[in-house]
Amino acid sequence: MSHLVRRFVSVLGTCCLATGLALCVAQAPARAETSGGFELVALGVRGGLDDSNLSSYLIRAQGDAHYLALDAGTLLPGIDRALARGAFADAGPAGGDTAQGHVFHDLIAGYFISHAHLDHVAGLLIAATDDTGHKPVYGLPSTLQVLSDDYFNWQAWPNFGDRGAKPALGRYRLTETAPGQWFDIPDTTLSAQVYPLWHDRITSSMILLRHGDAYFAYFGDTGPDALSGGGHHLADIWQALAPLVRRHALKGLLIEASYPNEVTDAQLFGHLTPAWLERELGALAEASSDPEALKGLKVLVGHTKPSLKAGRDPRSQIAAQLQAGNRLGVHFILPTQGQQVEMP
Ligand SMILES: [Zn+2]
Ligand SMILES: [Zn+2]
Repeated sequence: MSHLVRRFVSVLGTCCLATGLALCVAQAPARAETSGGFELVALGVRGGLDDSNLSSYLIRAQGDAHYLALDAGTLLPGIDRALARGAFADAGPAGGDTAQGHVFHDLIAGYFISHAHLDHVAGLLIAATDDTGHKPVYGLPSTLQVLSDDYFNWQAWPNFGDRGAKPALGRYRLTETAPGQWFDIPDTTLSAQVYPLWHDRITSSMILLRHGDAYFAYFGDTGPDALSGGGHHLADIWQALAPLVRRHALKGLLIEASYPNEVTDAQLFGHLTPAWLERELGALAEASSDPEALKGLKVLVGHTKPSLKAGRDPRSQIAAQLQAGNRLGVHFILPTQGQQVEMP
């Protein structure tokens, strides 16, 4: 399946422990590929309620054949929707598979799971009843432990993982990623590093993807540092991203704004509003020592929580509030399901 040759394994764990994450990003070794950007396809964009449209994105480096899935709340229905909207232009029925099957079987190299909340893993769990190709599922050790203990336990669901309750069917390879260590994603030209995030009672995570000298940051659910009881996960991340922002190597980021500004801090439970997101982006601009540094940066916003109340449209409200408070001049994009976003 793979036609790509992996050239480097760039593990910088010792560097990270010794010098801090910011320096590690700056010192990541150059890989031989020429630098390009990224292509993203939104498979699901909502933060709840609608099980046909929950957080999941496919991303690949421009020029790559294979994608990494970023969370998998809604997987196969999202692929269908994206096909209907003209994404995966190079994919059709292949090898006896439907186009949907071809994308699922042949174009996804692996999965990154930011945290094990159901709205981020439901598609992964349901799709496991088909042949999944023994693909890697990357995540923090704590995230994979929940997958293994609470879903793949033969009680909630058969054990499609490769550890835990016997027999382990091994359809997914649960692959732990320690914070601050670069690792390569097989069958792609991507390498990646994972950072922890505060998400109320659990640890969520961000994955920083690298292709040549181009970077993209995908954030799982997160609340602001100021509500985390003294935590500084986002502040640490802004320090790490600042050098990339300064030299325009960060091609984009995807982060959440779950609720409109009217929702009180006490009701956020480890999520962001537009106001909190802009405050955090302000911290990134400050870390970059340049108020203009974020101008034009593509900031994709997802995980908006829908409402079942007549006449309410939190997503439009969130979009309007983001625009109204956009002092940094970032390019906010709220992708819809099936939308393709280019980040050259
Ligand atoms: Zn969520
Ligand atoms: Zn969550």
